[in-house]
Amino acid sequence: MNKIVLAQKAFFNSNKTKDIDFRIAQLKKLKRVLLENEVQMEKAIFEDFSKSAFDNYSTELALLYLEIDDAVKKVRKWAARKRVATNIVNFPARSYMIPEPLGVTLVIGAWNYPYQLSFAPAIAAIAAGNTVILKPSELPVNTSKLMAEMVNSNFSPEFFKVVEGGVSETQQLLEQRFDKIFFTGSVAVGRIVYQAAAKHLTPVTLELGGKSPAFILDDTYLEVYVKRLVWAKFVNAGQTCIAPDYVLVKREIKDKFLQLLMAEIKKEQFAIENHNYVQIINERNVDRLTKYIEPKKVTYGGNHNIQTRIFEPTVMDNVSFSDAVMQEEIFGPILPVIAFDDINEAIAEVKRREKPLSCYVFTSNKALKDKILHEVSFGGGCVNDAIMHISNSHLAFGGVGESGIGSYHGEYGFKTFSHFKSILEKSAWFEPGLKYFPHSETKFKWMKRILKF
Ligand code: NAD
Repeated sequence: MNKIVLAQKAFFNSNKTKDIDFRIAQLKKLKRVLLENEVQMEKAIFEDFSKSAFDNYSTELALLYLEIDDAVKKVRKWAARKRVATNIVNFPARSYMIPEPLGVTLVIGAWNYPYQLSFAPAIAAIAAGNTVILKPSELPVNTSKLMAEMVNSNFSPEFFKVVEGGVSETQQLLEQRFDKIFFTGSVAVGRIVYQAAAKHLTPVTLELGGKSPAFILDDTYLEVYVKRLVWAKFVNAGQTCIAPDYVLVKREIKDKFLQLLMAEIKKEQFAIENHNYVQIINERNVDRLTKYIEPKKVTYGGNHNIQTRIFEPTVMDNVSFSDAVMQEEIFGPILPVIAFDDINEAIAEVKRREKPLSCYVFTSNKALKDKILHEVSFGGGCVNDAIMHISNSHLAFGGVGESGIGSYHGEYGFKTFSHFKSILEKSAWFEPGLKYFPHSETKFKWMKRILKF
């Protein structure tokens, strides 16, 4: 590990990655490698957890192509000096900030969207002019192996290298000194990464998880709300960091909501019957999910098959905040429904918990929408939809509090992997001499006048 890091450090110090043409060429190469390997990528992710070619494209590759195209188009602008105003004290001068790459970066990916969560941070790091060591999650073995083959046979290791492995390899990596660590995964491992980074004062971005609520506040467009909610919850079999974790529905419309919800979920049966429904990543996670099930509260689904690792889309009704299913992030296809009478009480319950990665508000009532957006702190979210905010690269993507530190996507990814070097450039033709000895009453008066600005 140490050799790879040192080789990357030496390469970074050669200043090659600071050249914008170099960055663009590497990004274009990455796109070509992805395009050339699309079929192999489909095959690998299907072998890992039955993810279909359709889902692979719409939830993994499409976002990567967009991120690459966006960076190729805009990186010159992002990397240009940013001129800022200069204050009167410094007259005559100009001020600007130079975005500079941080250096050798480590990207640690999660398993649930293995390509997207590994390559999207790497794209941002490359666009910003860094070298990258990428450690994909070891759980989807085929995608991890393929990413290593794709990158290591096309890029020089001193610039971009995939290191495969699990806990022990990650720990060895974390002992090294990096200039930036970008981690996607659980809160528990996020803490380990943060502690390891603190030893070297390495800056981190932590993309973590949490319990993201969905508020259903009226029935104006209930059919549309339900359609969008069901897709967002059950895509990837609920193994999505920003999936709506649970629903808070106004009691008067709960029955109507449940009816529509179950009718919509029935359509997922089509996916199961056609082997087009994502598997739970491993048996340990199937076991974890079964512990949340309270049979008397299940109004839909609830069954699973440990051999095939298929877990039915499941709805639990009459759930309370003290139930097992409400104690941790579900990260699977179980949707608890909690009815509320008083919106203030519902908001208070959300706020009693850790700040979620996302929050979704379904309503046509502007005042209620604004109230929730104003009062609840969360990473990002949608009004009248769920998870789709991730698809807009003009929006920073990241958590707050326990759901994460920092953000990325589009220009925010570039900023995450950059330092902004602030420069005051002074002209030497004029020197008022106010600050120098000997001080005098007149100088003092002038100084007071000038420093008022
Ligand atoms: P995880 O934390 O178990 O693993 C993430 C990475 O950390 C993997 O590469 C793994 O090899 C490594 N790792 C695991 N244990 C380690 C240890 N003890 N020391 C060092 N490294 C270790 O997370 P996961 O199961 O892959 O993903 C699920 C979690 O990730 C959920 O909480 C989910 O919400 C979150 N997540 C967040 C985002 C986001 O963008 N915010 C995206 C996807 C997943």
